[in-house]
Parts: sequence; structure tokens; C-alpha cells
Amino acid sequence: MNEKTLDKNIKKQNVIIKIEEDSIAYEMGIEPGDILISINDKEIKDVFDYRYLIQDEYIDVIIRKPNGEEWELEIEKDDFEDLGIVFESGLMDKAKSCSNKCIFCFIDQNPKGMRKTIYFKDDDSRLSFLQGNYITLTNMKDEDLDRIIFYHLSPINISVHSTDMEIRKFMLKNPNSVKLMEQIDKLASANIKMNFQVVLCKNINDGKSLDKTIQDLSKYIHLGSSMAIVPLGVTKYRDGLTQIESFSKQDCINIIKQVDKWQQKFKKEQNTKFVFLSDEFYLKASIPLPNGEYYEGYPQLENGVGMITLMEEEFFEYFNKIKGDSIERNYSVATGKLAYPLIKKLCDKICEKFTNTKINVYEIKNEFFGETITVSGLLTGVDIVKQLKSKDLGSILFLPENCIRADDTVLLDDMDITDIEKQLNIKVCLSKDNGSDFIKQFIGG
Ligand code: SF4
Repeated sequence: MNEKTLDKNIKKQNVIIKIEEDSIAYEMGIEPGDILISINDKEIKDVFDYRYLIQDEYIDVIIRKPNGEEWELEIEKDDFEDLGIVFESGLMDKAKSCSNKCIFCFIDQNPKGMRKTIYFKDDDSRLSFLQGNYITLTNMKDEDLDRIIFYHLSPINISVHSTDMEIRKFMLKNPNSVKLMEQIDKLASANIKMNFQVVLCKNINDGKSLDKTIQDLSKYIHLGSSMAIVPLGVTKYRDGLTQIESFSKQDCINIIKQVDKWQQKFKKEQNTKFVFLSDEFYLKASIPLPNGEYYEGYPQLENGVGMITLMEEEFFEYFNKIKGDSIERNYSVATGKLAYPLIKKLCDKICEKFTNTKINVYEIKNEFFGETITVSGLLTGVDIVKQLKSKDLGSILFLPENCIRADDTVLLDDMDITDIEKQLNIKVCLSKDNGSDFIKQFIGG
């Protein structure tokens, strides 16, 4: 590798920020601030190259020190043994942005003037594997698919929306969207498991189109695939965007019946329901949520499929084992409209058993995005502060942990948790999604 190539390949993302204690890297004198240049003379495009190249027993690593000095390290280790290096970016590359203009894109329904990262639309297969993001495959070339196959990145989460390619093209506003079924077939032939997602839009991909999509995707059940259907979230910022109506209560009842027929057929023929609806459909239809067994191990939790049932199950499993006490406690919890009945029910249960514990549960209306948005993950600081001013908040206010991005302290409207603490004059903690941790955050244990 010549000097010019090396310089071109040195990316900010290859900067080392941490070395695990007593790791191989630690013993070799690699330090935070060093840059990984190559392994076995090969360029490292991203974390998958890195993971692949460090698998061997003997590897040749070139590191550049902050003073420009280059160290060539010959490392002998066990097969697959990690080096103990943490890089500046988990992906070791820039995330690929999406090339679609989906008619339902939530990012386009954000108000103007928020921080840049809010408007970044990623569509990166590597993030699908690493973080479970859903991708459309529209920005993928053949060699990108080959790379997924070569590294066997499985499962891959795919946003399908419709297997009727005219409808998909209309929804994604991207001519490349029509290659989807060939791409899925290629991944399936390499035994890559895929999880599918459909964002359901009224009068666009529902009804007969949804039947076709379910039927077409059921071809991949043998790979262990599953499919989630989530309703489009309509915010008040849709000026200039395709007008799409929200689903009514009766629509949701009909969709539940429609999907139930498919579930029964697949269960009978292939011993899995395969297709699942997100919790929102049941809540909006006022139909009780199915029990835990129904969800077959919860394969589609990221899409809000079975989240409420799981939390309740975990809660009562722990709750029924513990003894109450009479210690004085006073807390508050803020949540979205959708989760409010569950959170209220669980907190009331805690207060019954822990007789001197008071937990005020507050439902926060989403005035920022519009009241049709009811999920707690889209709550904003401005609504929380406005609606909780002058309320009894006790000693700690708990906010839903999903309203903060991973490794961040900022809500969607750019308000930091510390700003909320200052404005409400209260300590703020993030409330746990896991049912048993939810109890422990109030009573300890
Ligand atoms: S793929 Fe996702 S981010 Fe890109 S336009 Fe569609 S919904 Fe928005």
C-alpha cells in the first residue's frame, strides 16, 4: 500500500477512542488517539471489514501514532479473539443516507429549525444489522448485496410497504424501489433471514394490496422471517406532502380481522403466525391486546409489536414475587397517550402493595407534533415542561427512555434533560421499559 492510498484511506472513523483493559491492543501499546491504518495490508472500509480481518490467528496491524509515527505490529492470538479496540464511530464509516422521498416519511413531518441530526435519513444495511434499523434496499448496488451475503449479515430488516411494485414506487417515490423482490430473492437464496415491515397507509397499501404483500412475503417463512404492520403516524406538519388519512377505530377493527385470517392460515400450515400488527391497532380498535404466547417470542418488538404485553408480563412476574413495604416515596411519571393506561395501571399496583408510595402518572398530549401522535417515543421537552409546570412531581420525574436517542440526553425538540430539570426544578430519570426494572426504579431491589 503506497503512502497516497494510505492517506486516502485514513478516515476519522478509524480513530481509536478507547482500549479495553488487559486486551491485546493494551499489551501492544495501542492507545486512544492512535489511528488504525490497515490489517494484513487491507483497507478497512467499515466495521465489517474490521471484524472479518481480525478473525485470523496471525495478523499484521499498522497503527499511526498522533506524532505521525507508524507502528507495524505482528499479532499472534486465538482465532476470532478480539483486539479490544473501540473506534470513534461504531460503524467505522459514514452512515449511508436514503435516496427515497417516501410519502409517509416521519422526518419530513418534523417542524423546521430542529437540530440537523433529526433530519438525517439513514438507509444503511450495516445499521440494519448492528442496530436493527429498517432499510429499503433502494440505494444498494449488486456489490452491496454481495457484501451482505459474503459477511452473512443476518438478519436484515427490510421496509417493504408493498410487494405491488407500482404501489411501492408511488410510496417511496424512487424508481429503484421496483427491484425489491429480486433483491429479497437474492438474499433468501443465500439464507439471509429477513424481517419485514409495512407502514400501512389508508387507501394506499391497505386492503387487497396488503393481502398481496402478506402472501408474497410469506414465501420466506422458512428463513424464520416475520412481518410487522405499523400504522402511519400523521403529524400536523404535512403541508405540501401527500394527504393521508389516519385509520379510524373501525378501520383498525377491520385490519385486525384481515390479518387474523392470514395468521390462522399460516399457523395451521407452517406453525407460525408470521405477520403481526403493532400495539397501536389494538389500542385504537379498543380490542384487548393478545397475550405473550401469541407473539411467538416477540420477533418484532422494534416495531412496537407486543411491547405492552411484554412489559406487563415482566412486571407481574416480578411483582407477584416481592413483598410490599411502608417506606415513604413520592415520584411522578410522564408518558404518551398510548401508554398512559398501562403505566397508570402498573403504578397503581405498586402503590397498593407499597402503601406509603405515591406515583403520579401524567399523560402528555403531543402538541408539538399534533395530538394524533400518541407514542411516548415522540414526546418533546417543550410539551413536558409546559404540561407539568405546577404539578406535584414528587422527588423524581421519570420520562420514557425511548424519547431520548441512544447515548444522548436530548429530546426530539433539542431540549436537554438538564433543561427540563432546571425548568421544572426536579431531578429527571429515564423510566425503564422492562417490566421488572420499572418496579425496581421506584422501590429499589
Ligand atoms: S426511507 Fe425512511 S428516511 Fe428515507 S424517505 Fe423513506 S421513511 Fe424517510
